[in-house]
Amino acid sequence: MDRSSSLAQAVPGLWQFGRYFWPIIRPQWPLLTVSGLALLADVGLRVLEPWPMKVIFDYVLVPARGDAPVRLDPLSAWDPALLLTGAVVAMVALTGLRAVATYWNTVSLAIASSRIMAQIRDRLYRHLQRLSLGYHTQARSGDLIVRVSGDASRLQEVLITAALPLVSSLLTLVGMVVVMVWLDWRLALLSTVTFPLFGLAATRFSKRIRRASLQQRQREGAVAATAAESLAAIKLVQALSLENAFADTFAQQNQRSLGDVVETKRLAAHLERTVDVVIALGTALVLWVGARLVIQDALTPGDVLVFLSYLKNAFKPVQNFAKYTGRLAKAAASGERILDVMETQPEVRDRPNARPAPIFAGAVRLENLWFAYKPGHPVLKGLHLSVQPGQQVAVVGPSGSGKSTLMSLLLRLYEPTAGSVRIDGQDIRDFTLDSLRPQISVVLQESLLFAASIRENIAYGVAGVSDADIEAAAHLAHAHDFITALPQGYDTPVGERGATLSGGQRQRIAIARAAIRQTPILILDEPTTGLDRVSEKAVVDALRQLALGRTTFLITHDLSLVPQVDHILYLEQGQVVEQGTHSELLSQNGPYATLFRMQKALREETSVGAV
Ligand code: ADP
Repeated sequence: MDRSSSLAQAVPGLWQFGRYFWPIIRPQWPLLTVSGLALLADVGLRVLEPWPMKVIFDYVLVPARGDAPVRLDPLSAWDPALLLTGAVVAMVALTGLRAVATYWNTVSLAIASSRIMAQIRDRLYRHLQRLSLGYHTQARSGDLIVRVSGDASRLQEVLITAALPLVSSLLTLVGMVVVMVWLDWRLALLSTVTFPLFGLAATRFSKRIRRASLQQRQREGAVAATAAESLAAIKLVQALSLENAFADTFAQQNQRSLGDVVETKRLAAHLERTVDVVIALGTALVLWVGARLVIQDALTPGDVLVFLSYLKNAFKPVQNFAKYTGRLAKAAASGERILDVMETQPEVRDRPNARPAPIFAGAVRLENLWFAYKPGHPVLKGLHLSVQPGQQVAVVGPSGSGKSTLMSLLLRLYEPTAGSVRIDGQDIRDFTLDSLRPQISVVLQESLLFAASIRENIAYGVAGVSDADIEAAAHLAHAHDFITALPQGYDTPVGERGATLSGGQRQRIAIARAAIRQTPILILDEPTTGLDRVSEKAVVDALRQLALGRTTFLITHDLSLVPQVDHILYLEQGQVVEQGTHSELLSQNGPYATLFRMQKALREETSVGAV
């Protein structure tokens, strides 16, 4: 039977997967060896299974009816009663031993594969986190979650429920064919005439099954992604009454994915029933010819019994062959999706000669810095800037002018298209990412808190901090008072997105988080946007404390925060239009001065209105 063609798509994929993760698989060799030996024992015992029955037929039943034994061999000299007992005991013993072998085979494989998969999943997750922002802004997070959880467990499950039975039934088939040829080659040949029919059916269907199941996986990924996206932004979805629109999209995707499931099942069922008919055909042929051979004394009835039993037992797994190949094909698809992620190189990664950064003093220089998200569409066009350690720089300008992009480049979330970012005179690409990023802390416009206590949120990822350090950071961030006023104080759990705290409180926790890191460089990206005046004042005070002695970049469109900084950079369409101190820029009467005066007038107007 031509199994290879039906497995042709699945096996290379799985092979490649195995090779890629070989360093993780190899250490499990003792368990895998136990599993392999147990498998061989299982196969041997299965081949022996019908033999006690043959002995009973040929040496106990047939002689008892007065016929002479068909063949003269050592066994015919034995006492039939003893043979009968022996055969019956052997029958039970074979099954018992097989149970033990199968048990060890499955259990040791399950342990080994769980260990392997856990490590693969860890690696996958680590790798995903390291992939550049450029990748994540394009990939859908729901789809990535399916890859980390669904695809990895599917592979493990398939290994045990499909690959193992498949290998075991293939070996059994080979063993049984060898014994059949040894018993009677003509009848063996006859049994194998149905093989091409199996091959034909299997090749026809498994390609289609594979295609359908790959599509099913992709659709499931899309369903998960839609759900994840809308649930992550549930506030917005509800506020804009988008529930129905999302529900409709979800229902459509769900329906399509359902159609694929049915199609896969339909194809598999078709193949299985075809195999049923082919087996019946084989059995009929063997009985027809076998019975004649017995009448001609060329075979014993026991031999025909062995043949029939082999046909049934060897082909029963073949009946499930479609199921196994289907599952293997799905596993191969899962493997491909995992490899696909693993083989995506982070665009931003350590250079071969990267070295750990020393502790920075905090001098930052931009040298002719260019950057484009898409080739040919530069977002930053040749920026120059020199900042002394501890200086504070405000980056202002209309939205879309490239301010956030500039901060991403400082953090090395993206690589410059040309030019460089230098810290203390060194190109930041010469440093390892792990030593660069921990020296820069960030407070963003909307700070995400992790689903953990406030204490953990402040200290997240910083080793060796004491409760006193955490409280000191909270004091600096003007957060201590409101935290201690909460019923559980620092142990108060905050929701997945910190939903139980106000915007200003969240910002102050983010400031404490930045403070505890004691980094020489600080990036504040619109940290007060969206806050009311009272919260804003508390946050601004906290930020002033935080910025003391650190090289600070403040992105803001609220110019009331700006006058105190040492240097102002006014960006427009990726270029510096003006730069200097507040008073210098005011006297230049350029776009900064215009904007500043306009905002000031507006503020005075609203505060007068409020009074
Ligand atoms: P600002 O912070 O000044 O509002 P940004 O740095 O966010 O400006 O954006 C600068 C330009 O880059 C904008 O035209 C924006 O559309 C574009 N941009 C920002 N992020 C991306 C991205 N991930 N992919 C492609 N273009 C982007």
